[in-house]
Amino acid sequence: MSDSPWVLPFSAAGGLPAERLGLKGLGLVTMASLELPVPPGLVLTTDTCAAFFAGGEVWPAGLQEQLEQGIQDLEARAGKRFGDLKDPLLVSVRSGAVVSMPGMMDTVLDIGLNHQATEALARRTGDPRFAWDSYRRFVQLFGDVVLGVHYTRFARAQAQVLQGRDIADVDVDGLREVVAALEAVVADHGAAFPHDPREQLRFAIDAVFRSYNSHRARYYRKTHGIPEDAGTAVYVQAMVFGNLGDQSCTGAVTTRNPNTGHRGLMGEWLPRTQGEVGSGHADPLPVTASMEREGATLEAAHPEVFAQLTDTCKRLEAHFCDMQRVEFTVEQGKLWLLQTSPAERTALASVQVVVDLVEEGVIDQRSALLRVDPRKLEYVLRPVIAPDAKRKVIARGLDASPGAASGRVVFEASECREHHERDEPTILVRLDTSPEDIQGMTLAAGILTARGGQTSHAAVVARGMGKPAVVGCTDIQVDYARQLFYAGDSVIRKGDWVTIDGGTGEVMEGRVNMLAPQTDVGAMAKLLAWADSAARLKVRANADTGADAARARTLGARGVGLCRTEHMFFQPDALRAMRRMILADDPRSRRRALNDILPIQRDMFRELFRNMDGLPVTVRLLDPPLHEFLPEREADIADVATDLGVRPESLRARLAQLHETNPMLGHRGVRIGVTSPEVYKTQARALFEAACELTREGVIVRPEVMVPLVGIAKELDRIQALVHDVAEQVFAEYGTEPEYAVGTMIELPRAALIAGQLAKQADFFSFGTNDLTQMVFGFSRDDMGKYFADYQREGILPTSPLAAFDVEGVGEMVRIGVERGRETNPRLPVGVCGEHGADPEGVAFFHSVGVDYVSCSPYRVPVARLAAAHAALGAGPG
Ligand code: PEP
Ligand code: MG
Repeated sequence: MSDSPWVLPFSAAGGLPAERLGLKGLGLVTMASLELPVPPGLVLTTDTCAAFFAGGEVWPAGLQEQLEQGIQDLEARAGKRFGDLKDPLLVSVRSGAVVSMPGMMDTVLDIGLNHQATEALARRTGDPRFAWDSYRRFVQLFGDVVLGVHYTRFARAQAQVLQGRDIADVDVDGLREVVAALEAVVADHGAAFPHDPREQLRFAIDAVFRSYNSHRARYYRKTHGIPEDAGTAVYVQAMVFGNLGDQSCTGAVTTRNPNTGHRGLMGEWLPRTQGEVGSGHADPLPVTASMEREGATLEAAHPEVFAQLTDTCKRLEAHFCDMQRVEFTVEQGKLWLLQTSPAERTALASVQVVVDLVEEGVIDQRSALLRVDPRKLEYVLRPVIAPDAKRKVIARGLDASPGAASGRVVFEASECREHHERDEPTILVRLDTSPEDIQGMTLAAGILTARGGQTSHAAVVARGMGKPAVVGCTDIQVDYARQLFYAGDSVIRKGDWVTIDGGTGEVMEGRVNMLAPQTDVGAMAKLLAWADSAARLKVRANADTGADAARARTLGARGVGLCRTEHMFFQPDALRAMRRMILADDPRSRRRALNDILPIQRDMFRELFRNMDGLPVTVRLLDPPLHEFLPEREADIADVATDLGVRPESLRARLAQLHETNPMLGHRGVRIGVTSPEVYKTQARALFEAACELTREGVIVRPEVMVPLVGIAKELDRIQALVHDVAEQVFAEYGTEPEYAVGTMIELPRAALIAGQLAKQADFFSFGTNDLTQMVFGFSRDDMGKYFADYQREGILPTSPLAAFDVEGVGEMVRIGVERGRETNPRLPVGVCGEHGADPEGVAFFHSVGVDYVSCSPYRVPVARLAAAHAALGAGPG
């Protein structure tokens, strides 16, 4: 490292990777090498950042000298001198992390200004107002970022001088007065404001490096899984001014539509401003008329600049083979490019863009598959408002991030957490959002802001999170003090329900009926078809009803990997019959109750099998402890007793009998089949009767009966014999013999360890990784919430192993189970049906140990399909 330079001019840094240049640096250096108009600048590489922190926030040896040399290079290119009193060179100091962390780190602009330099700038530009306004901004920004003066103190001091006037209406003398007030704030803070440009530069570089370790940046890295040591580069770049006269502006464009991925430039600009388009504090204008927004377009106001920008965007896309977001400044009619980077985009757009790029011949199918994070696919098909839903639209804003959400209104990001803990969705309503609000945004169901454009913080962050958002909603007036907002005649208070549609920009009163997400997104279907041809692992769905199964099938499931039959008892008739069965005192009433259960289950199986015509359906025999079907609360006990015609005391007595200290380790799973075989017999009969009836109707039924919580080979023996007996009887009655299989779940460590024995009898294995995780860790699935937050906070385990598969421990158990099972039966079909079936890390691991299929909830089937392709392409998780 000692040989590699700390500081490199953009022009000399070509070929270095993003790991050293930072993402923004890679864009700047590449644009410079393409001879695009980039203001000259220097990169302080990520190595420099690492050395700065390693040395206790002290500059490494050589940095000072290299920076000085770099400044000379900059001066030569810019044709101005830093610190010069006639025509001073001003510079910016910006950060550039290796993985994008929008808005998380600090920036200092206009470095090099002091009173004399400001006068010089005024003379050179002939615009003293511009010069003093630049100095005003510099004092505030430097004071806030470098000297730690809270920006609200500046805002107060400025407001006092302005006495209600707008800063834009103040003349030069007024600006000088404001500057004096701001300088007084700095002095009052006890900080010495450095007037020497080189000292300003040194301080600013330190501050920007330090902002990498700010609280909000660390939180962002934690929530986005960005490694702590990725580091940041820092750029020192000649300033260009978007606020210098009528022919100046700033803006940002994406080379395609970041919401839909469709082709065509899209973006916003602001005349006579400096770096405010993305800040959310101003309402920008559309770049082209195609955006159906009001206001003067850049295309109309500056046609030549627009043409140059369009051409530049084409070149950048062609070079990077990806959709770009480009920031620019126009200074007195001249276009300057300040940044290019892969554009943030919705999940839908990320799919559309890669599919289009394949069709345009820019990338191949493999790259297209690998470029999309499988987790994102869950957001492609967001819920939408039902077309016929009754709704009262009270306001309209910008359609910043698609999908609809209903929730209770909150005005503070911190309030989202309380509601979230009660499982209540929230809509976070703000004038605009800032990086401090990230935590709340993560937990909110949707985001609504009064200000800001398509590239504002709220829009970009929500889009990245796949969260519905409406921004720039000028129809609403937010009153934080009174915790309400006005929208036309409506007054919406904290806690009221509202619905937002991030796809149309509409804000509605109350909760509005939503439709299940659409499934016919052409680009997604194409991408997933490519994924299926690349993948080895098949994907099935966990579906308990015919409707779930049908949805899963349209999302590409190749069968049902888990039907939890207990979920079929949510229906009142079925639940009542089940309760009568549990409370029966004698075999006759028990049989009668089971006879009532039989047709209900049979009909449900029929629907499930019919919707999965030709595909395998794994039906799990009853698993939960029986007390789960009985009421818990005293008031409910009385009602249920009346309903069933039993005395409350009998119900209480049965509840007491069924009570267990550890029900998860108790009388459940196969243990029910052992102690109450008639329950499993009834289920088996319902299943085979449904199968025979449908077979007669010409439906291809492929039932797989699955026994839960097996840990001893003889348990499986017994239930298999029982199922075969019932099958034989039913087949004889119907005179037809559909093929079926009987297999076991592997959910207990013992089952994995004796997998060799179990594989002698089992027709298939399916790993229930939920229970297996619970049993391997000894964490109760039901109770771990009480302590797990502390485990996360303390860094003992970063994520719950029930959400993110534990390859290290539970994975070892799965590996042992698969290996031992296949030693006995090399052709043993093996699946996974716990929640980890759509966890990309889990899927990669299951692929690696030879699992045949994963099964997950219907909406996550696309995630698993793409994750399976990633696993096969050797990419690991996206
Ligand atoms: C499992 O344990 O992984 C499983 C799929 O079963 P359940 O979640 O119903 O216990
Ligand atoms: Mg289980």
